Amino acid sequence: MSSLESNGLQIEDLQVSYSNGEPVLGKLNLSLPEFGIYTVLGPSGSGKSTLLRAIAGLLPGYGGKLLFNGRTVHDQHTLVGLVPQNYGLLPWKTVHDNIDIALKIARPGEADKAAREAQIERWLTAMGIAGLSGRYPLSLSGGQQQRVAIARAFAIQPAILLLDEPFSALDAMTREGLQRLFLAGWQEHPATALFVTHDVEEAILLGQRILVMPAGKAGTAEAPELLDNSAVFGMPYEDKRDSAEFMERSRTIRRMMQERWQ
Ligand code: ADP
Repeated sequence: MSSLESNGLQIEDLQVSYSNGEPVLGKLNLSLPEFGIYTVLGPSGSGKSTLLRAIAGLLPGYGGKLLFNGRTVHDQHTLVGLVPQNYGLLPWKTVHDNIDIALKIARPGEADKAAREAQIERWLTAMGIAGLSGRYPLSLSGGQQQRVAIARAFAIQPAILLLDEPFSALDAMTREGLQRLFLAGWQEHPATALFVTHDVEEAILLGQRILVMPAGKAGTAEAPELLDNSAVFGMPYEDKRDSAEFMERSRTIRRMMQERWQ
């Protein structure tokens, strides 16, 4: 394999079974080049969260290989950030301290206090919540908590960034604001990002490529489809929704959903 081919996230024959034995993900093969946003669409139960959990190292075991730039993703060299659906903030820590503790854990001994403070300030400002630094998570709205979770994920400067339906609990306006902030954050720190969503529009607005998971047990169904979305990805956010390219992607994906998920 050339060095170019091994750049990014390589998923080779990934297979996951939970204790009941049935394979949830079966022989999944994917090659995701570094520095891209990959949105993941699939029906409930198709293994989207399981895929993220495997990459995040949250499963006791799996079959196959997960490589990042040619090395296993779990060798301590690859920093993985996770933004869960329920924000995952520590309620007994302030916004500032939630990010600070993540930095200490993710980069032990690497950043001194001044460097950590600079990162915290930078990402809270980028997410438009510098004024909330001293607040506790439970005193914030869902949208504000999700901004903190995104600021925290970017602040550790992960090589791989995993987002599991991060905006699904938010109203449409808040969601749109966070989609823009997420894209702006990613421009500043272009991690290899996997973004799970059940919203077709969100998948097209955010993804450079769109991974469409097959329905049902992946072990017994066909392989997932990786659709190119670079035409929409390259546009300014505000132009995307009304573009012919967006409509075309939307039609294609809806047709796939009808054919493959029903
Ligand atoms: P998705 O995120 O696409 O909705 P999941 O990855 O959450 O799918 O789940 C895929 C399948 O694995 C489902 O059938 C689900 O019931 C099963 N599953 C998920 N987590 C566990 C678990 N901890 N133990 C047993 N089965 C699980």
